Amino acid sequence: MPRTDQLLADPRLRLAADRLGRDLVKAAVTRAQGRARAGEITPDRVADAAVAELPATAASLTPVINATGVLVHTNLGRAPLSRAARDALLAAAGTCDIEFDLDTGARSPQRGRGVIEALRRAVPAAGAAGVVNNNAAALVLAATALAGGGREIVISRGELIEIGDRFRLPDLLASTGARLREVGTTNRTTVEDYQQALSDRIGFILKVHPSNYRVEGFTRQAGVAELAALNVTLVHDIGSGLLAPHPLLPDEPDAASSLAQGANLVTASGDKLLGGPQAGILLGDEPLVRTLLRHPLARALRVDKLTLAALEATISGPLPPVARSLTALTGALSDRAERLAATLTAHDIPARVVDAEAAVGGGGAPGVTLPSVAIALPEELATALRHGPAVRRGESPAVAGRVAGGALLLDLRSVDPADDERLVTAVLLAAGH
Ligand SMILES: *Cc1c(COP(=O)(O)O)cnc(C)c1O
Repeated sequence: MPRTDQLLADPRLRLAADRLGRDLVKAAVTRAQGRARAGEITPDRVADAAVAELPATAASLTPVINATGVLVHTNLGRAPLSRAARDALLAAAGTCDIEFDLDTGARSPQRGRGVIEALRRAVPAAGAAGVVNNNAAALVLAATALAGGGREIVISRGELIEIGDRFRLPDLLASTGARLREVGTTNRTTVEDYQQALSDRIGFILKVHPSNYRVEGFTRQAGVAELAALNVTLVHDIGSGLLAPHPLLPDEPDAASSLAQGANLVTASGDKLLGGPQAGILLGDEPLVRTLLRHPLARALRVDKLTLAALEATISGPLPPVARSLTALTGALSDRAERLAATLTAHDIPARVVDAEAAVGGGGAPGVTLPSVAIALPEELATALRHGPAVRRGESPAVAGRVAGGALLLDLRSVDPADDERLVTAVLLAAGH
């Protein structure tokens, strides 16, 4: 058995130690030695095996091509960032002028100014904007600053939602010390229900977009304009982060319309339909946003330079992948699918082009299906595509598809066209080519 220090002297592993650190390289060496001891490989192959065991990066996250057809997939990290956002993020990753005036060389209080200006340009109806860690943080900040100390948040029983993974909005709000005043019923709440609950203990009325489910039938909810007419601070959690109306998603609320209808504050996520990094977006009346951002809690919820850079580039730069996926024409998806399937069939992999149905996902636009096109492959490839040897060696991204009717479907609506070549390579490697 070659000794560990001998193996670590291998030029390939020495070079890897510069990139990955000595501990991760040593762990790969130990795994390779273990395989030799188990008789899987001969001792002269240990160095090669250690090189093959090296992780792609020093972090344990594996890139995954999202071919599930769910555009915003929470388990896959929600929105993929645009090229522009990735570039901006990388540029800010070192030291940058986040709180530094390059003109004067003095400290600058303009942290986050770029993204605030981008938000204000995108939503002129907002008197002010702010960014916090995520939408849950935006709601906690609003509840603490506007209804802390036992004041009441009036909310419809039809909007007491669980965001996911047992995170329940009512619990989140109650954790701030605010009191929830539930009005109406699960399926029907009128503006009179809200009106009857008003008292001098009110912090604000909260309207929440039930983004991940839909109540159908005998239903009614009070609209933003009706609630705004009650002359109590109105906070609207729109969820998905559409800044303006989207023609394909008529039932999805957006910040500009909500503010135009009289909401005082809109909160939203940055990494759902907006297509950016995880963030909570605050848009609304200037004094209200200022009160929130000057609250001591705001410091605990603030975002870092990476988020600020990626979010600004998402809003100011070219359309992010989520927005492009949403509007991609099925004809274009078919062309891509035919091309990819032809390459795979040329390598004797049975690939068919089939119609599919994609979804927005990420707790957005429930019930909306988007016509899509998928490549159908033998179901057995699903495992190798997720964690076959090529994925483990970092030679191929993992691919997540959807198994249906005995086939593995790779839905192209959720795949960035720039990833088509990587997708083909991943399938070829998974099939043993
Ligand atoms: C997703 C969602 C949240 C939580 O947002 P995060 O950014 O994940 O914290 C809150 N409210 C609504 C309506 C949502 O859709």
